[in-house]
Amino acid sequence: MSSTATPAGATTPDHFPPEIVTMLATARAEIDRHLNSGGRCVLCGEPFPCTRSRLADLALGAP
Ligand SMILES: [Zn+2]
Repeated sequence: MSSTATPAGATTPDHFPPEIVTMLATARAEIDRHLNSGGRCVLCGEPFPCTRSRLADLALGAP
């Protein structure tokens, strides 16, 4: 048995299905692109947090 202890916060999705890995990567990219600028999303123009960034937050399990 090999010990593969993962520190909390590290993202090592080796044991996740590819669909989940892709979804998480997409969510991460969305969060990077949908940014708050004076209370609005720079990409959608919606009041921040915009729908897309909130969905991405959910996907990543953000608080
Ligand atoms: Zn947005």
